[in-house]
Amino acid sequence: MKEEMEIRSVTEEKPSHLWHAMHRHDPQVKQLVAVKGEGGWFTDEAGNCYLDGVSGLWCLNLGHGRQEIIEACAAQMGKLTYVPLTMSHQPALQLATKLSDLLGGNYQCFFSNSGSEANETAFKIARQYHKQTGNPEKYKIISRYRSYHGNTLGALSATAQANRRVKYDPAVPGFLHVYPPYAYRSIFNGTKEESDLKAAQLVEDTIRWEGEETVAAFIMEPFISGGGVLIPSMEYIERVQDICNRYNVVLIMDEVVSGFGRTGEMFGFMHANAVQPDIVTMAKGLTSGYLPLGATAVKDKIYQSFKSVGKDNHFRHVSTYGGHPAACAVALKNIEIIERENVVQRVHDLAKSHLNALQRLTKYDHVGEVRQIGFLVGLEMVEDKATKEPLADEKMVGILQNCKQRGLIIGRNGDTVPGQNNVIIIAPPLTSTEEDLMFLVETVTDVFNHLFGSNI
Ligand code: PLP
Repeated sequence: MKEEMEIRSVTEEKPSHLWHAMHRHDPQVKQLVAVKGEGGWFTDEAGNCYLDGVSGLWCLNLGHGRQEIIEACAAQMGKLTYVPLTMSHQPALQLATKLSDLLGGNYQCFFSNSGSEANETAFKIARQYHKQTGNPEKYKIISRYRSYHGNTLGALSATAQANRRVKYDPAVPGFLHVYPPYAYRSIFNGTKEESDLKAAQLVEDTIRWEGEETVAAFIMEPFISGGGVLIPSMEYIERVQDICNRYNVVLIMDEVVSGFGRTGEMFGFMHANAVQPDIVTMAKGLTSGYLPLGATAVKDKIYQSFKSVGKDNHFRHVSTYGGHPAACAVALKNIEIIERENVVQRVHDLAKSHLNALQRLTKYDHVGEVRQIGFLVGLEMVEDKATKEPLADEKMVGILQNCKQRGLIIGRNGDTVPGQNNVIIIAPPLTSTEEDLMFLVETVTDVFNHLFGSNI
């Protein structure tokens, strides 16, 4: 598809009634209209081809057009269109067991439609768990600054990105935030490991200062993704688990982005030693974006407190479409392919042999740091390496536009901190070919040469 790549015209010609996500409502800016996809590539109405270097919204893990997944979906639709999960159906039963196995523990799975809902579900389970196990005052939920956990008001309250929240405040009460492990701009001295462990210490201090009897849960992504690809040392994750265990705080691992092979392990937390979260939330790569599905996997220890023989302590929570039979059938097929094609190992290997080439970009004056784990890459762009002043907004926009003109879609961190949306995000489909990855690296390099002069 690459040869056809020459941008011919803007699209979306007529006035549109479609309200686009996350865009300034500028009538001059026309969004492309995608019509067809194949692997990691898609074509717009004018016939331009693009490599999707961010997998849609980091979800299109197996790429477009997998016939097996489409057929699994159609077959399930033909057999049983819908029943709610107040009952059971085979795809949900099988998927719950499969997820528990993949997580390497004994988990009970609640299904929803999205990552936001998966996290909302986790918050409610954590609070109810404490109420039913003799700790009714535990309600606070702690997350990290710069993290994103979803768009619904609870998940948005756990999200700690000022610009995303400011127009919708006040946030839901009971959510608070701590400093993330972010060695590049750390407030702490010392090596990366030392700085990250100090960030973990802040988690413990915050629990104690808030009153351990009031803290219900700590939610974290193993690697803050949308907030700028912040990759801590693995000791940070291990230390946070120890702290949560010590203070009876439910550890919720948000694997919405990092799950299903994105980072070169099936789940991101598996990079660390002996980490087994109390709750794991999933979406996106769970179905590779073929259908909406969220999952909240809960350790048996917690689930036991919801068993209600003679008691009134069941989970009063339902999602009409959560765990839709077709979505579960798609997820099962998606996971079958990930396993059969050794996608996780492939990501691990190709990240080293191909995407690692992005590390060379630190030779540019405007690239402060390249952070990478598997197929998840962040380029922290700066005006000046010494001062670390974030690259100006118009220059960030210029990089993305120039890549798009060359047929490559990449992203940048969300509305994290005013003036700090300066991390370029690259997260290609996990099935990208070697040629795709070379095209990606070459295109970004060409654009940097074009905009910043040839440093390498
Ligand atoms: N958690 C993380 C880490 C995410 O990146 C996202 C979405 O980008 C969500 C949760 C919310 O997922 P959804 O958009 O499916 O509600």
